[in-house]
Amino acid sequence: MDRLFLLKNNLTEITGNRFIIDMMYATPDNIVMHPVYWEVGFGDRAFIHVDAAVRLQELSGELAKLNLKLRIRDAYRPPVAHQRILQLINVDGLFASRPENSLHCYGTALDCCLTDEKGRNLKFPTEVDGYEKKYAKQIAKGDTEAFYKHLEKARQDFWDTRYAEEINNRELLKKIMTSVGFETISSEWWHFQLPGGKEDYPMIEWK
Ligand SMILES: [Zn+2]
Repeated sequence: MDRLFLLKNNLTEITGNRFIIDMMYATPDNIVMHPVYWEVGFGDRAFIHVDAAVRLQELSGELAKLNLKLRIRDAYRPPVAHQRILQLINVDGLFASRPENSLHCYGTALDCCLTDEKGRNLKFPTEVDGYEKKYAKQIAKGDTEAFYKHLEKARQDFWDTRYAEEINNRELLKKIMTSVGFETISSEWWHFQLPGGKEDYPMIEWK
């Protein structure tokens, strides 16, 4: 990544032994089944606004104390990659309809889950992004019904007692992330963002 680009846009790479970088759009294991970040030349590294990086750094010690790690599945997303996802996706409404509507394109959002010391994911109500191969295949055919149903489990207000362990882990993740100042959104347990949003931060074009 071009150092000047990072400096000019207040972006920095997420590094450190408490963070597992595992960008889902750098692999075909995502809702559009394409390694989009490689297709646009971005690669598989995780970058984030320095204001978010400070918060993640604060989190490192706490994660160590709890013998946990944070698996980063998405962070800064170049608008060109967002456009590519929109191009590939077959249905409306599944994804922010413009890069301007996704805080990932501003470098102020990240998608993540918790793992143990060995990098094994804790259980959560869904995978990050609600992704499962069967849903990606259905969506490719224009069939979103089962996926939307599945996404009800992704909500912060999903309290089905049959998923007690998963919900506990969701609540733990929320507690950890909000303790250093990240905000949650109601529809996706894995998504965290800086307060301030589009008023305080510009969208970051790449290339
Ligand atoms: Zn997100």
